[in-house]
Amino acid sequence: MTTPLVEVRDLVKHYRPAGWFNRNAPSIRAVEGVSLEVAPGETLGLVGESGSGKSTVGRAVLRLEVPTGGTIRFEGRDLADLSPAELRATRRRMQVIFQDPFGSLNPRRTIGASIAEGIEIHGLAPAAEIPARVDALLEEVGLDRNYRHRYPHEFSGGQQQRIGIARALAVEPAFIVCDEPVSALDVSIQAQVLNLLLDLRERHGLAYLFIAHDLAIVRRIADRVAVMYLGTIVETGPARTVISDPRHPYTRALVSAVPHPDPDRQGDRIVLEGEPPSPSAPPPGCPFAPRCFHSQRDRRCDQERPLLRMVEDRQVACHHEG
Ligand code: ADP
Ligand code: MG
Repeated sequence: MTTPLVEVRDLVKHYRPAGWFNRNAPSIRAVEGVSLEVAPGETLGLVGESGSGKSTVGRAVLRLEVPTGGTIRFEGRDLADLSPAELRATRRRMQVIFQDPFGSLNPRRTIGASIAEGIEIHGLAPAAEIPARVDALLEEVGLDRNYRHRYPHEFSGGQQQRIGIARALAVEPAFIVCDEPVSALDVSIQAQVLNLLLDLRERHGLAYLFIAHDLAIVRRIADRVAVMYLGTIVETGPARTVISDPRHPYTRALVSAVPHPDPDRQGDRIVLEGEPPSPSAPPPGCPFAPRCFHSQRDRRCDQERPLLRMVEDRQVACHHEG
């Protein structure tokens, strides 16, 4: 096996709740022991409902926040061991695309200046060559090169996301965290931006950590998938088989909500009861136990947290699978 590009081991991230009135409140356990790997050129889909900790994992991988526990390695090196200069150099190789591209663009700079910024900071091209680089990047993401003089508000949501992608691409990364990059776009535009991400992955050999709550999208782009629930991974394995034959009850519920291309093969929709528990007070046993509908669900589920175990071609954290 090749060395993973990104290797996360036992990542934990707890937040102190904000505000004086909350000073004695329990920590928010956003991520509770997540391990994952992304190989060069590979796409790992990270799915789960809102609040399950996906973005926190993404930010920790990029070291936009310092983890409470665990290690993150990039190209084999622990990010915590890097000097500030080494961390800056490493950060260039790992980029991020956010759900809200407008929020990540400076409204007072032309998009040409925004795209050029990273190239300048990292000294990736002599000044005289930067305009041509920016033109090539615009073209690569499907935008007219004359747009470089315009400002972010002059673009549609889909175009803004293309600009965000051009910015990320400008610094020649090996790895991009895509945090719900198409969730805010119209369905017709979603497919175009997804196709662009697929093309760029091919052309530049990029690896993605692709965060989404929509399994239909993940099925299109991911090689492997990791399903998060309340700060933990409950199932992980090849995207194709996990999505076509999910084993963890939570994954089964998620998959049942995705429309099947062939209506005759659409199974019954599993509607989950209640809300996920609060990450400030997670249940002592299986995090999914309070909502679980597994036929063998028993007291052990309420008392003992299941660990990920191999079940055929994937890993599942359930006492009653495998
Ligand atoms: P997701 O991306 O899956 O929707 P997040 O990683 O954004 O989930 O959040 C996981 C949990 O951590 C949520 O309960 C969220 O409210 C909490 N959280 C995220 N960021 C912070 C923060 N900066 N301060 C306090 N709580 C946070
Ligand atoms: Mg998020």
